[in-house]
Amino acid sequence: MFIKHGKIIIIFNFILLVIFGLKMYQDYHDNEELKKIGVLSESSALAHLTKSFRKAYQDVIVNNHIKLDEKTINLLPVKTSRAVSEKFSSLVDSQVHIRTVSDTPRNIINQASDEEIRLIQYFRDNPSEISVLRLSDNGGYIYGEPLYVKPLCLKCHGKREDAPKLIRDNYDGAYEYKVGDIRGLLSINYMKHDFVDRLDYNYRKNSIVILLIFASMFIGIIILVRNINAKDALFRASSEKQKDELRRLSITDHLTGMHNRYYYDEVINKEMRRAKRNKKYLVYAMFDLDHFKHYNDIYGHQKGDLLLQKVSSVFHENLSRTSDFCFRLGGEEFLALYTVENEMQVITVAEKIREGIFALNVEHVKSEPFNKVTSSGGIAIYSPDSEVNEDTLYARADNALYKAKSSGRNQIVVFEE
Ligand code: GH3
Ligand code: MG
Ligand code: MG
Repeated sequence: MFIKHGKIIIIFNFILLVIFGLKMYQDYHDNEELKKIGVLSESSALAHLTKSFRKAYQDVIVNNHIKLDEKTINLLPVKTSRAVSEKFSSLVDSQVHIRTVSDTPRNIINQASDEEIRLIQYFRDNPSEISVLRLSDNGGYIYGEPLYVKPLCLKCHGKREDAPKLIRDNYDGAYEYKVGDIRGLLSINYMKHDFVDRLDYNYRKNSIVILLIFASMFIGIIILVRNINAKDALFRASSEKQKDELRRLSITDHLTGMHNRYYYDEVINKEMRRAKRNKKYLVYAMFDLDHFKHYNDIYGHQKGDLLLQKVSSVFHENLSRTSDFCFRLGGEEFLALYTVENEMQVITVAEKIREGIFALNVEHVKSEPFNKVTSSGGIAIYSPDSEVNEDTLYARADNALYKAKSSGRNQIVVFEE
């Protein structure tokens, strides 16, 4: 039983492709997750640091009751945290921007960008959220934490009349804050991130390696299966050849190369039907060598075999059409089976065979009166309108053959009812 190797290639390579796809999908998501975790933990640390600075300056101002004037106003939390953020950004090549912004700032410089406003809105809509990390509009990441109004903030952002004079003189807006309100955002914007770039680089490198491994497996399977296919085809061809040879041997007479009795049994009825169908006369011509027993006795069995081979070539020469058959039915008994258009042509081929055997000119001293090997033939005709069976044909041909023998041999007799 042979397996369809073309199908195996398709199935295996399809499975490979699915595994490859899943692996790439998994790796991509793992990489994205890892990038987020890295950026998130860094952002969280930076946010804590920024808030610590902010808180420290708040404490300095409030606990030390520092009076606000043109100089000390720069120590206000919003200004100090901006200063710290800007310093930090300049130290790390401006790839990270830490900002404390508001959607209703006192100072326009602290105005939240559209992206930041969306984050502020997100925190207002989801009060339980404490931080968020998103892909930013510029292709990097943006991290945000909400800034809540605390009681301390109301000193400057409560009622306007309660605010320090310097604040009142300088700012018209950002009063009437309420404790617990989200009034701003701590945002960390990464334009470019070395850790993320490194992960992406590793991801691309690994993807190429995996792609190469899968491609070579893909090609390997094709080559392997093609190899098996080629061997398979070779094996099939040789086993077909063996089968053909076995078949040829089983239907051939080994001594003469003519068809044997077994093949006769196989085709006789088919040929009778075919002749009837084609409205042709099937000639059933049985031959027997004359005085062959004597030939063997005088010249030896080996010479007898040689003679049988020579006689077979006469049959082959005269029966060369695809619809012609010749069989060695046994011993020195042969059958020529051929079709003709009309009864007149029946004897022609059989006569040629008899003449051919005669023309072999093989000496036979006990074959009176010719002194050479001769043959006799008996013919039965299977005409398109006859209803006889194969056994009858055989019996009729045998009967005619007997007549040929008894009428002096070296002749053909056609059976007549
Ligand atoms: P007739 O003219 O009446 O046919 O006489 P015959 O001697 O030919 O008689 P018969 O047909 O009965 O003889 C058959 C002989 O054929 C007997 C046997 O020695 C010989 N014979 C049969 N098969 C073989 C064979 O394979 N090789 C050889 N050499 N001889 C065979
Ligand atoms: Mg005989
Ligand atoms: Mg004989």
